Amino acid sequence: KISREQEEENKRRLQAQESDEGLKVAREISRQSYLKKRQEKKLEELKDTLIDEELLFAEVKLTAREKKEKAYKQEVFDLAMKMTKDTNDIVGYQIPEAYDDEISRVKQERRFAVALERYKDPDPEDRAIPFAEQDAWEDYQSGKAKMKFGAADKKKADEYEFVFEDQVQFVQADIMSGENEPMDEKESRKAAAQTEHEHILEERKKLPIYPYRQELLDAIEQYQVLVIVGETGSGKTTQIPQYLHEAGYTERGKIGCTQPRRVAAMSVAARVAQEMNVKLGHEVGYSIRFEDCTSEKTKLKYMTDGMLLREFLGEPDLKSYSVMIVDEAHERTVSTDVLFGLMKDITRFRQDLKVLISSATLDAEKFSKYFDDAPIFTIPGRRYPVDMMFTKAPEADYLDAAVVTVLQIHITQPPGGDILVFLTGQEEIEAAEEILKQRTRGLGSRIAELIICPIYANLPSDLQAKIFEPTPPGARKVVLATNIAETSLTIDGIKYVVDPGFCKQKSFNPRTGMESLIVAPISKAAAMQRAGRAGRTSPGKCFRLYTQWSFNNEMEDNTVPEIQRTNLGNIVLMLKSLGINDLMNFDFMDPPPAETLMRALEQLYALGSLNDRGELTKLGRRMAEFPLDPMLSKMIVASDKFKCSEEIISIAAMLSVGNAIFYRPKDKQVHADTARMNFHSGNVGDHIALMRVYDSWKETNYSSNWCYENYIQVRSMKRARDIRDQLQSLLERVEIELTSNANDLEAIKKTVTAGFFYHTAQIQKNGSYKTVKNPQVVHIHPSSGLSQVLPRWVVYNELVLTTKEYMRNVIEVKKDWLVEIAPHYYKKQD
Ligand code: ADP
Ligand code: MG
Repeated sequence: KISREQEEENKRRLQAQESDEGLKVAREISRQSYLKKRQEKKLEELKDTLIDEELLFAEVKLTAREKKEKAYKQEVFDLAMKMTKDTNDIVGYQIPEAYDDEISRVKQERRFAVALERYKDPDPEDRAIPFAEQDAWEDYQSGKAKMKFGAADKKKADEYEFVFEDQVQFVQADIMSGENEPMDEKESRKAAAQTEHEHILEERKKLPIYPYRQELLDAIEQYQVLVIVGETGSGKTTQIPQYLHEAGYTERGKIGCTQPRRVAAMSVAARVAQEMNVKLGHEVGYSIRFEDCTSEKTKLKYMTDGMLLREFLGEPDLKSYSVMIVDEAHERTVSTDVLFGLMKDITRFRQDLKVLISSATLDAEKFSKYFDDAPIFTIPGRRYPVDMMFTKAPEADYLDAAVVTVLQIHITQPPGGDILVFLTGQEEIEAAEEILKQRTRGLGSRIAELIICPIYANLPSDLQAKIFEPTPPGARKVVLATNIAETSLTIDGIKYVVDPGFCKQKSFNPRTGMESLIVAPISKAAAMQRAGRAGRTSPGKCFRLYTQWSFNNEMEDNTVPEIQRTNLGNIVLMLKSLGINDLMNFDFMDPPPAETLMRALEQLYALGSLNDRGELTKLGRRMAEFPLDPMLSKMIVASDKFKCSEEIISIAAMLSVGNAIFYRPKDKQVHADTARMNFHSGNVGDHIALMRVYDSWKETNYSSNWCYENYIQVRSMKRARDIRDQLQSLLERVEIELTSNANDLEAIKKTVTAGFFYHTAQIQKNGSYKTVKNPQVVHIHPSSGLSQVLPRWVVYNELVLTTKEYMRNVIEVKKDWLVEIAPHYYKKQD
């Protein structure tokens, strides 16, 4: 179909062609019309792109359902903004105006005007050649930005594919243009290793700490206790122990370095072993709960703070160490806080022991003061500016918002620069990984490759190493991390940080004795640390999935030290076994609430580990051998009486793995649920179900296939097996015989009750539960095999607060058992 306009044009063209002069005119007309059409198309596209780009972040996931809520929140937000004038002065960071409506509009118009200028009068030379390189690049870029995450126009897609193919070829050419003569394989491998190691040594010299090496060593020589402060990533954890080793400190003993997190201890040790070109576990090793990767040779030992506490049990003066570094002191975990007290004490009678307290900024003065005014050694940091972005309104679903933000960054930001997303735990990380994979699947080569790297405590170490692998050119890495990446681990190459503003925290109510794990807002200090991760190697951007108002008004300045919000049963048992009886006068940096201490003492008394004078009993001494919560330890020790230690250590091991046993793929939920419920047949309760899982796996000779068939995580099972092995050897130490009583489920349940009678709940009329002492309303977690059964009495393993207060892992108990097993705690009622 030819339009009238075109008909006219054709006519003119034909007429003009009749003369030479006419031919020229015709060409010109045709050219003009081509250019005009192109220009129009371009503008059209450009308009879309610009609008998309500008609104991208502000528009993160806005479903109809949320619109109303958002409007209301916006109203509150606006009001709040009016009331708080000075919201923009956060020291050291740039606060963008991008989300201020007016500025954003003006900015957008300005950009649009510039774009118009550029395309109004295109350079004929430039424009006349269709698909010039620049054009193709622009088309590709604008196409990428426009293409949201759904299906794109097929024809377009092919074009991008074509262009992208070009890109890949370019990259390959780059790599292939090496000039090295081919070598035989072995030789080349050796050479590669050599240069790799040389490269690592070069890297060491580039770290901010390097210029201060000698000064630092001098200070350590001079003082017994030194507080060291330096920005995350400056090289404190990996370099200081090596410097000390090079300076000869290892001739007098080991150098210890504590980490609050297992993953950090493992990963840092691996790195240092690599830097020193030794095998992990030889000169450089690590020790974490249930895993000791050290040997006689070990000189540099990384360990969790909890493990060092346990070492005090066997070596109260730490005499095998010449230096002890309490690293990541700012994290203020309970174990670190207790270590402060013990280290302070030890320096008084071991003058030759050097103690270093190392922290990522903050609180240095406080540490110094606590350690009798120890000097502070500051390593000046280097940090590039970080653009801070806040959302305009609160996000209803931060997980989804985080995923969308990642995709937006990936598609709209220039190549190069990896993304770090902070999530609260393994479950969330796995969910995010799944959604990201789903949404990028099918896009194929139309977007650059997105390499997804999760990192959390239970991740196997080979996968942990993956986050440090350099991103191949053309691809982008997205690291999905818990707050382990806040200060414990530094990943090079991060340019974008996505911060939903939450983390998992323990919370303890000493009045009710209830401890639960909750997802809570982070502190301002933590938010700053997270943002700082974006500016380590170049200027970066931090996308905060919360409003500036909530940053200013709803976040605490600093995180409350864990010692003030956790159950101290564990720690008190530990201190008691170290012979520290007067806990009220223990030199805590920030003392726990007296009520919390009383609770812990009361619980240990109820469990039978302390007598009524507060002294450790024989039972308590045996319990302290296990690196577990006192209730779990009690359960294990009680298995002696019920002759079911085999079963109980399986249960304890499975519970210690956390909640990562079963998985439910999106497309196979029904299958997965059926497989899971098989283990629950007879409504035996979650503990017994876990035991059955372990036993069935063992019967298949620890088969991975069996795990796949039953929707069970192989690696969680392997970990459970390791833990179980260790518990088994600890049984020997406390002289408990290994006996099996698999068919007597009552005996097993009674044993669980002997440890967990403290965690009892009774059903209510409406199907909810009430905890027995200090009544509180709780519910059975939907993942439990008993969530539909609703027995009258249950004991639970732990409480988690999500939408409700949930009991996770429960078994049914009889009221009479409670009276039988814990007569000092429960009395018969008529
Ligand atoms: P700090 O303790 O001061 O925060 P670190 O010593 O942890 O600093 O980090 C120094 C450097 O070592 C960082 O550039 C970091 O990326 C690198 N690094 C640390 N651990 C690893 C690892 N496992 N693999 C690769 N690089 C690592
Ligand atoms: Mg560190």
